[in-house]
Amino acid sequence: MRVGVLALQGAFIEHERMLKSLGTETFEIRQKKDIETNMDAIVLPGGESTVMGKLLNDLELMNPIREMIKNGLPAFGTCAGLILLAEKIYEDKLSHIGTMNITARRNAYGRQLGSFETSDEFKGIGKIPMTFIRAPYIESVGEKAEILSTVNGKIVAAKQNKQLVTAFHPELTNSNAVHKYFIENMVK
Ligand code: GLN
Repeated sequence: MRVGVLALQGAFIEHERMLKSLGTETFEIRQKKDIETNMDAIVLPGGESTVMGKLLNDLELMNPIREMIKNGLPAFGTCAGLILLAEKIYEDKLSHIGTMNITARRNAYGRQLGSFETSDEFKGIGKIPMTFIRAPYIESVGEKAEILSTVNGKIVAAKQNKQLVTAFHPELTNSNAVHKYFIENMVK
């Protein structure tokens, strides 16, 4: 199994570390030829969604990645990665990859509360640590998506077939449970 981690910007090394701790082979996606190799899943890290969206377009990665996910490539997006996968962005005309039936709200906790740590329930896993950094939350999920976690009444994780998103950064915690969930339920 080979998992591609989008490595244009943001917290991609931490994802690689988590995946490797589960015995999963990873490679970095920086240009078009990287996605032309054999890839069993893709991880979209945190960072800045506007910057990553622009780079994805400039490098001609946006359309092929969208098609691959539509055709069933498992995808895991954290934080900015969640925003990239969202079909809609709240109060914004823009969307990026847009394959997941959710509306993301950027910087949703305001400047002060944007970054915090907590632990809460995640459906199918139990209580896990969660690190939020200038995080979005999921404003709403459509019919095709399922809520996996809420924190203080806000939706912070969801899935849709082989797509998984979290508003928090599991890769910055000491638990690899969400990565394990992704690999076991969506990739294997
Ligand atoms: N605020 C960022 C955005 O809107 C997301 C932050 C993150 O990925 N840690 O893209």
